[in-house]
Amino acid sequence: MKIVIKIGTSSIKGQAESSANEELIEQVVEIVYQLKQIGHQVVIVSSGAVGLGCGRLGWTEKPKTITAKQAAAAVGQILLARVYEEFFQKYNQTIGQVLLTRIGMQNKEGYLNARLTLRELLLLGVVPIINENDVVADDEIKFSDNDYLSAVVSELIVAEHLFILTDTEGLFTEDPRQNPNAKLISVVEEINSEIEGQAGSNGSQWGTGGMSSKIQAAKMATSFGTTVHILSSQAPSKIIEILQGQKHGTTFLPRSTPINARKAWIACGASPKGKLIIDNGALAAISKGKSLLPVGIKKIIGKFGRGVVLEIYFEEEQNQQPRIVAKGITKYSSDDLRKIKGLPCEEIDNILGYSYGNSAIHRDDLAVIAN
Ligand code: GLU
Repeated sequence: MKIVIKIGTSSIKGQAESSANEELIEQVVEIVYQLKQIGHQVVIVSSGAVGLGCGRLGWTEKPKTITAKQAAAAVGQILLARVYEEFFQKYNQTIGQVLLTRIGMQNKEGYLNARLTLRELLLLGVVPIINENDVVADDEIKFSDNDYLSAVVSELIVAEHLFILTDTEGLFTEDPRQNPNAKLISVVEEINSEIEGQAGSNGSQWGTGGMSSKIQAAKMATSFGTTVHILSSQAPSKIIEILQGQKHGTTFLPRSTPINARKAWIACGASPKGKLIIDNGALAAISKGKSLLPVGIKKIIGKFGRGVVLEIYFEEEQNQQPRIVAKGITKYSSDDLRKIKGLPCEEIDNILGYSYGNSAIHRDDLAVIAN
């Protein structure tokens, strides 16, 4: 099986300012070795470059400016790679450093290259250690965080399992730091608005994501057919127990009809250029594999041309909270969509004086992430 293990900064950073949590990395390395011994192919997505770099530079807080963060990442990435290399050496296991950028995967060729290189590394028996190339990726163009990156990597290698190791036991009914009665949710069959609501928001001092970004990553990865597990980084040996059928942390079951590879780039390669908010009827239609018609579009956010990728949101009636449900390539510009939203297809030609077809986004260009 193909397995992705994601470790966050809050787990990677050790007690001393400039050190990595070597004990944890050593344990993860041992687990990866065991997984490989029984025939699995494993990829690690590791954060920690910025955190470790800050420590080495003597900074006690994460810097505010982007360039300072990028500089810290340059310093820290080398420290991070060295710790992995040192522990994998003990098992004579070769590793490869892969630094991905969103901009590099913006076009389909870049996306395909990343896929082919990772596949090659796995065939060679190498364990890829992946992070974002923070030096070239500023806040505008970066992957939102490494949780998201781990979902992208799961798609790239077509992983069966993604393990997100973090500083809590899993997803709870409420924030366990605030409410001791909060209960661990063991299995999530579908990531609906209730689950998204349980995720809270903020990350830790050094990390970036928090539970909510893990849920968004789980939503993406399960839509590609990957089973996602969120569990405590305290005991990485549980990864093996989970694969043997035991229950630990929170498991998110994969979608029964995963997004196919052709649409994966739409879902996670291209960076979206605008947003659409759709209504109930449109959500029901796209969930059944139909195209998105102008009649189901309630709102257009941003200015964009034809042929770009858009994020598609649905607003829950109870709380008006928009949640992402799909991504797709628009046939019409934002100006055109503003004129034809809410209208039946027959009106398109009348209103615009031309038509690119009945749908705003054709079903072949639509990757439905959640319904
Ligand atoms: N790439 C960042 C780092 O290595 C981490 C980003 C994240 O954890 O989301 O420090």
